[in-house]
Amino acid sequence: MSDLAEPDVLEIQTRLLDWFRISGRQFPWRQTCDPYAMLLAEKLLQQTVVREGVVQAYDDLLVAYPTPTALAEADVESIRTMIQSLGLHYRAQELVALTREISEKHGGCVPQDLKSLLALPGVGDYIARAVLCFAFGQDVPIVDTNVARILYRLFGLSGPMPANPARKRNLIELAGSLLPTGQSREFNLAMLDFGALVCKSSSPECDHCPLSPVCEFNISTTE
Ligand code: SF4
Repeated sequence: MSDLAEPDVLEIQTRLLDWFRISGRQFPWRQTCDPYAMLLAEKLLQQTVVREGVVQAYDDLLVAYPTPTALAEADVESIRTMIQSLGLHYRAQELVALTREISEKHGGCVPQDLKSLLALPGVGDYIARAVLCFAFGQDVPIVDTNVARILYRLFGLSGPMPANPARKRNLIELAGSLLPTGQSREFNLAMLDFGALVCKSSSPECDHCPLSPVCEFNISTTE
């Protein structure tokens, strides 16, 4: 699956990046490369639908606890109060455990390699790769449910989508084969936004989609 023809890859990259420059979403965590801020944002976004609530909680937490060590020493109840609007109270304890590990085992700095990130409590494949790409600028593919759905449709993959696509080697390799070197951050963000805004789960907007000329799903349904 990773042996894509060069022109197809270039066309997908160009079309998606052009779309993203006009239609990509703006969030405060996209204005920074601070790995702690990125990790915090990804933990708050995990299983959270309403982005507005996350923005407020993210801002509040960063002001009150500007470093992993500061948050590691925080009172769990105070954090719970700050993130209660997200409806996932158990995350307060997770955030303290996570930053305590960073503080105690990594000198208060978020590690820069996949293995060390995955060893942190509450950090899975998706979050680890997001931090590596968005904070440390590494050319690593990121796969979540939205990205997996785009890949399935774009390349006409058969069979059901896996329950945890972030851990599926074939999808990670396929996503990696699309990455434009040096522009992985922008491209990965574009894929996330594209899955949320255009190639949506139940009603993909194929009629207005910039990838429609190269999309297997669209081509097969219009033949
Ligand atoms: S044409 Fe439709 S299915 Fe294909 S990528 Fe675009 S929105 Fe998704």
